[in-house]
Amino acid sequence: MKVFAEKFGDIKILRYELTDFEQLSLQQKQYIYYLGQAALCGRDILWDQNNRYNLRIRTLLETIYQSYTGDRQSDLFQQFQVYLKRVWFSNGIHHHYSMDKIRPGFSAGDLQKLINASNLSGFPFLHELDELIEVITNPALEAKRVSLDSSGDLLEASAMNYYQGVSQAEAEAFYKAKKQAAGENAPSFGLNSQLIKENGEINEKVWKADGRYGKAIQQIIIWLEKALPFAENELQQQHIRQLITYYQTGNLKQFDEYSISWVNELDGLVDFVNGFIEVYGDPLGIKGSWESIVNYKDLEGTKRATTLSENAQWFETHSPVADSFKKKEVKGVSAKVIHVAMLGGDCYPHTPIGINLPNAEWIREEYGSKSVTIENVTKSYFLDSLGNGMLEEFAESAEEVERAKTYGYLAGNLHTDLHECLGHGSGKMMPGVKPEDLKNYYSTMEETRADLFALYYVLDEKLLALGLVPSMETGKAEYDAYLRNGLITQLTRIEPGKDLEESHMRNRQLIAKWAFEHGQADGVVSWVKREGKSYLKIKDYQKLRELFGELLAEVQRMKSEGDLQAASQLVETYGVKVDKKLHAEVLERFKKLDIAPYAGFLNPELRLIKNDNNDVADVEVHYAPDYTAQMLAYSTDYGFLKG
Ligand code: ZN
Repeated sequence: MKVFAEKFGDIKILRYELTDFEQLSLQQKQYIYYLGQAALCGRDILWDQNNRYNLRIRTLLETIYQSYTGDRQSDLFQQFQVYLKRVWFSNGIHHHYSMDKIRPGFSAGDLQKLINASNLSGFPFLHELDELIEVITNPALEAKRVSLDSSGDLLEASAMNYYQGVSQAEAEAFYKAKKQAAGENAPSFGLNSQLIKENGEINEKVWKADGRYGKAIQQIIIWLEKALPFAENELQQQHIRQLITYYQTGNLKQFDEYSISWVNELDGLVDFVNGFIEVYGDPLGIKGSWESIVNYKDLEGTKRATTLSENAQWFETHSPVADSFKKKEVKGVSAKVIHVAMLGGDCYPHTPIGINLPNAEWIREEYGSKSVTIENVTKSYFLDSLGNGMLEEFAESAEEVERAKTYGYLAGNLHTDLHECLGHGSGKMMPGVKPEDLKNYYSTMEETRADLFALYYVLDEKLLALGLVPSMETGKAEYDAYLRNGLITQLTRIEPGKDLEESHMRNRQLIAKWAFEHGQADGVVSWVKREGKSYLKIKDYQKLRELFGELLAEVQRMKSEGDLQAASQLVETYGVKVDKKLHAEVLERFKKLDIAPYAGFLNPELRLIKNDNNDVADVEVHYAPDYTAQMLAYSTDYGFLKG
């Protein structure tokens, strides 16, 4: 399987591999197959949620693409193709990340020319053609999908389709009243409906089998029913049944019951999410966008997380922080590592690398949550990064490049495991001290602490003894990568003249810069200049580890004591200001590499293989060769909603 598929605009398309899929039982494979079909059936729901014109525009663009008789090599048609690919990627006409409407590389007149040379006889919305052309090409219309500019009415400024004719104040009042009436453990009111005002009356149009989006939801139910007999255990069967009931009734209490069963099911290898889940697409954070992800456990990776979790007390006891700030009894957080087998809705093609659900706060508190790392997706990112020239451009030596290629992937995963499973859970607060005492510096300080915990232990012989690393080179690869990113390559994501704002970026520079400065006298790390380019060289890895330990002890003290003054000074001194000259140099070097900043994934195609008796004998994985073909096939095979 080749990871890289293609590049257009600011996007690259990759593939993910279904690692060890052959080793699953036939029952598990079929379970994945049917859940995978259910994952693809809600695609149109998301398109309509994102904007009310999206489905009609998609049909128009695909009709032109398939029937255009003019010169397909012409500049105009090439521009049109890039636009269509970007719209597919974003599940609509707005950029998936910036939320701004995508600017087509052609005018309204150009689009009319394309239409004139295409066959639109089967296009069902001919009477709206002028309006659709206007929406595509006039930047002032439907300008931003989600606006968070709180100076005006958020709903008026946002082009998403979760509300129609309702003001922000009306929507907020509507749901506030429901919440107050329901009291404790209230369901997530508004999660699965559109709120509209008609004839002066505000009403909810609920997304359910016999309601809005019914045609797509009925299909989802059909495939969930087919998946049911292949579930691995009773609890899985139970939560699938509850999910079906919820889709049939639209009753949010049933969704909560489903979520509780789902979060309690930990034994199966196969798992999935299917529903109205994340609320980022709604400026009010109420409405859930439809998404699905079907996955199975990575046994190796999960073993790694479990080993660390089981030894949590050892790590706590041996950490370099003062004894008074250590936990007497540590509970390791158990997280699982998974491979995705199918992505749908808001997870496709742009994919998260980790998930933590359910979102309902009261369920999390009472029943906990499932936290996962998606290993085959991070693996694709890693493999793709090996070929893009980034490492060769910014690593100081061939030795460093080699170390990154051999150990970098494991090093990065171990760092994440140590950070998530142990780092955040370590240490304790002094009586009366609260996280809020560190005010706006809290999240940077907390990420700094978890990262330092990971860095301190990633070069510890204990990892060798636990069988988690093949050699100490793994830890060295992580140190190389961490400093290189913290002081150099993360600057590629900052615009010229700007400082660091995001807390993870701040914490990474803070650690790297602090360690650099405090090790300078001993020559632990130094800058190397060659042909006007700056590189970092680590000369003493053990000494660097001691510096990380020293800073960890101090950062833990600040958190445990709530020392706001020391925390603010640390962050402001090392984590905020960007070295302008270095920044300009790094941006220049990055530009030459021509790397697309955003990535998404093609799904594999799963096929049922039957024997002579017409029984299913196997499920085969085929890696899709082509992005355009997959998008067109999805529109045909899963196009259940019309504009
Ligand atoms: Zn963290």
